[in-house]
Amino acid sequence: MVVQYKCPDCGADMVFDSTSGKLHCDSCGNEMNIDEMTKSKENKDSRTYNNTNYKDEEAHQHQEEVNEYHCKNCGATLITDKDTTATTCSFCGAAVVLSDRLSGNFAPSLVIPFSINKEQAQAAFKKWCKKGLLTPRGFMSADRIKSITGIYVPFWLYDLNGLGSADATCTKVRTYTRGDYIYTETDYFHVYRQVSLNYMKVPTDASEKMNDGMMDKLEPYHYQDLKEFQMPYLAGYLAEKYNYDDKDLFPRIEERVQRYVDNYIDQTISGYATTSYNSKDINIRKKNAWYALFPVWMVCYDYKQAEHTFAMNGQTGKIVGKPPLSAGKIAAWFSAVSAAAFLIIKLIAVLTGGPIL
Ligand SMILES: [Zn+2]
Ligand SMILES: [Zn+2]
Repeated sequence: MVVQYKCPDCGADMVFDSTSGKLHCDSCGNEMNIDEMTKSKENKDSRTYNNTNYKDEEAHQHQEEVNEYHCKNCGATLITDKDTTATTCSFCGAAVVLSDRLSGNFAPSLVIPFSINKEQAQAAFKKWCKKGLLTPRGFMSADRIKSITGIYVPFWLYDLNGLGSADATCTKVRTYTRGDYIYTETDYFHVYRQVSLNYMKVPTDASEKMNDGMMDKLEPYHYQDLKEFQMPYLAGYLAEKYNYDDKDLFPRIEERVQRYVDNYIDQTISGYATTSYNSKDINIRKKNAWYALFPVWMVCYDYKQAEHTFAMNGQTGKIVGKPPLSAGKIAAWFSAVSAAAFLIIKLIAVLTGGPIL
């Protein structure tokens, strides 16, 4: 089912505004609270929704791949990937949310809304390119940005308990001199540790398309902005549903948290000269998994007939990516560095009255 948020004043399509945190109408400037909009939408849609809900679910099961959606404004067929849950109509630009793809197992429970807007993301991209001093000449003057997309990426957030136990033999060494002899005294300690650590909402991205390493580097997300999921947050953005469920991704999160527990145990054993573990046992247990959507700005840019990607955390502005490098500039940079080094040597020689190189 296609959901569009119409302005109650002028009927235009509203989009989520990252600055105000409200739905905004670009036509007349009207703003509406997300809660308000969800409520009025539910009331209006409740009859049709209840009637079609069951049928929708059934149809959804069978023809997920071929489901066709139409824009309510212009009637155009919405061109979507099978994972898309929110997009804009490519003909009239209306923001649409595909509610049936956000129901049942695919209903997110939490969301961090965008707080960085498109202009800010664009400006940050340009600044980031300029900071890359080795960026090829002309790279910044040309408009390289092919597309800039605000996308809600699916994540699983795990509440976990880590039980760890370790058994180690540690030593303390004391050296002293008595008479003509140097004595070394080694004390052995049997050290035992048992820890139970709770971790809250450890994130891992659940989208096939997104590069795992890139998504990990976008962390941290700040959870004070974590909100109960509501569909209007997606209006005007691209959103995707997960490809991997919380069971699929558990091994990945398990490995990560195992490392945390491991490090924690290491830190509790201190003050010894040596530590050698006889045994270490770590067990990670899932207590809860939350399906959440996190905001990411993706910039695709062209350089030398190839496409490159840069990603930005849509909440904090943290950037991940590699600016294009120019071989010529790198060579120039190196010769500048060695010229400067040469200058310093010369200067020192003058100051010390030595021979001039
Ligand atoms: Zn309006
Ligand atoms: Zn349309």
